Amino acid sequence: MVKKKLVLSFPPRLIQEPVTYHLIRDYDLQVNIMRATVKPRERGRMVVELKGEKENLDRALAYMDEQGVQVDTMVQEMRYYPDRCVHCTACTAVCPTGALSVEPTTRETLFDASHCIICEACIPTCAYAAIESQF
Ligand code: SF4
Ligand code: SF4
Repeated sequence: MVKKKLVLSFPPRLIQEPVTYHLIRDYDLQVNIMRATVKPRERGRMVVELKGEKENLDRALAYMDEQGVQVDTMVQEMRYYPDRCVHCTACTAVCPTGALSVEPTTRETLFDASHCIICEACIPTCAYAAIESQF
């Protein structure tokens, strides 16, 4: 079993196509849609985590390439700087996944990157630039 976080960019002609349905049905992949933006008549963009057998994942990537879907490995990540953090916990209130949480005993803010979906909701809440998006 392998897992990949990818950015899929769809040209306008593919926006209505059920690409994710094919990934699930034809290639037996688990598809976790982390973020999606679609602008009618423009490009669609989706951040996904695909999980499945390596052979199926390779076939799915070839299928998307044939279809004209641009596939990029996700290299964006959120960085948390504990030395800048004053543990005001403002960011934990907006984090939809619990990637930012409050440690119950110390009341300190914790960041778990494995739960982060890079929605960037936390960035404007932090007055200390203790969370940043990096490419
Ligand atoms: S980017 Fe989103 S998911 Fe990640 S820590 Fe910030 S609010 Fe939470
Ligand atoms: S908003 Fe900034 S300073 Fe406050 S807990 Fe979150 S990261 Fe730390």
